[in-house]
Amino acid sequence: MNGGRSGPWDAIVVGAGTAGIPCAVEAAARGARVLVLEKAERIGGTLWVTGGHLSGGGTRRQRERGIVDSPQAHYEDVLRVSHDTVVPEIARLACEEAPHTLDWLDELGFPWEPETPALVYGHEPYRVPRTVWGANAGRDILETIRPLWDEQVAAGRIELLLGARLTDLVVEAGAVVGVRAEGPGSAVAEHRAPAVALTAGGYTAAHDFYPSVTPGSPRLVSVAPHSSTGDGIHAARRSSGAGFRGAEKFLPTAFGIERPPGSGRSDFWDGWPAVVAHFRPPREIYVNDAGLRFLNEDDESPHRREEVIMELPDNRWWIVFDEAAIDAGDPVVNFWSHERVREEARRGEVVWRADTLEELARATGVIDPVGLVETVAGWNALVERGGPDPLGRSVLGPKLETAPFYALLNRATTFISFGGLAVDTGLRVLDEAGAPIPGLFAAGEIVGAGATSGNAFCSGMLVTPALSFGRRLGRALGEVAAGLPAPFAKSA
Ligand SMILES: Cc1cc2nc3c(=O)[nH]c(=O)nc-3n(C[C@H](O)[C@H](O)[C@H](O)COP(=O)(O)OP(=O)(O)OC[C@H]3O[C@@H](n4cnc5c(N)ncnc54)[C@H](O)[C@@H]3O)c2cc1C
Repeated sequence: MNGGRSGPWDAIVVGAGTAGIPCAVEAAARGARVLVLEKAERIGGTLWVTGGHLSGGGTRRQRERGIVDSPQAHYEDVLRVSHDTVVPEIARLACEEAPHTLDWLDELGFPWEPETPALVYGHEPYRVPRTVWGANAGRDILETIRPLWDEQVAAGRIELLLGARLTDLVVEAGAVVGVRAEGPGSAVAEHRAPAVALTAGGYTAAHDFYPSVTPGSPRLVSVAPHSSTGDGIHAARRSSGAGFRGAEKFLPTAFGIERPPGSGRSDFWDGWPAVVAHFRPPREIYVNDAGLRFLNEDDESPHRREEVIMELPDNRWWIVFDEAAIDAGDPVVNFWSHERVREEARRGEVVWRADTLEELARATGVIDPVGLVETVAGWNALVERGGPDPLGRSVLGPKLETAPFYALLNRATTFISFGGLAVDTGLRVLDEAGAPIPGLFAAGEIVGAGATSGNAFCSGMLVTPALSFGRRLGRALGEVAAGLPAPFAKSA
């Protein structure tokens, strides 16, 4: 153990991602001296990969477009979409803070996509256009707030340690008074401050831990950055007895491509199957391992689809199509060209191709050939007679009859971790008995995606709360450092 950094610090922020950057910036802007530990070699965290959809009710941008909305309407929509599975006081606070966060980004010159605010159909849509984003997703958020960060680093109020990994909290007389971290390099150091803010993200890349806390969750196919291993949650539970809640919630996103096969990893930006019927009516059929259709391919409810997929063994299903379907419209995978579909089929890792349906099923090594042949025969007959489809599909066609035939392996994919540290509306971490742990705070996905989005996907209800709660916590830490009373130090 070496002697630690040059402190003394007013606050330590662990993790320089979506929540950690605004937290450090707001604290430093109020004069606090902030040490930021980041285990990666660059700041940004999930902002490098996130879709970056944000949502808020009652924003300036909505008003300018005549959209009538409010934090209360947003909150009611979140309750509807999540079937009342959020942590109410945390989700309500997130909705109240959201318009301020979006207006703040607006003032910073955020490059909004012109068609936003919009309804998003990849998740259960809200009742009014409320979701906004930039063309470069999370990277636009990072670039918009980076000048604020650079300013505080240049002023010496933020000191950043890259390659520094939190291992434990330092606890004395029941209060958190610092952290222990490995790195940079092989050094192990203790850093001390009266407040520690954990903004180290979720655990969606923790392939053992995730299923161990979410019984019945499938084998994880994760799109999260490798850094999302729940380190902050482990340290807080181990060192300070922090409470952990919400991991019983789980819902995968219905679509995804596992690459390389068996790895449990998926790359969001390499493309995902285009299964949102609102944007692309299906030209394919979806079958399970038995070769049977199992859902209405043009069902407009993503939530219903996600629940059906939870019931499939290994949460996988197959998108089956013929040669004629490839060129008949938008490709079956977003960001792929028609030629890429054929190329992938030649490679045979996630798409297979064969001259007959029996051979196609055998080529996958999984699909039952008899089931597939009967299903396609049944489908073609149904298209010919014009329905009705017992599963309720309204786009009845095309038939699958032009060889070669293709099967694309689709895997339900996990974007977020639902469980997290228990916090109150002061973002104070609570122990297992529900009492605040002195000196310990948290913001971002570390408090659990389920807190703000429930057992569902509420559009924008992770990135926005991460930014909002990061800012809120930073303001409080800064005001305490400036000798002012903590603005929200009482329990909810
Ligand atoms: C592909 C993808 C798309 C998504 N799309 C959306 C979307 O459109 N809208 C939405 O609302 N949500 C979306 N989400 C979720 C959302 O992006 C995340 O929940 C959110 O960005 C997490 O922010 P965070 O600050 O909690 O964590 P992060 O941004 O991941 O930051 C955590 C930081 O902590 C660091 N860290 C971790 N452990 C340690 C340690 N031991 N010591 C020091 N540092 C550590 C990490 O390296 C990282 O930099 C998406 C997620 C993914 C993966």
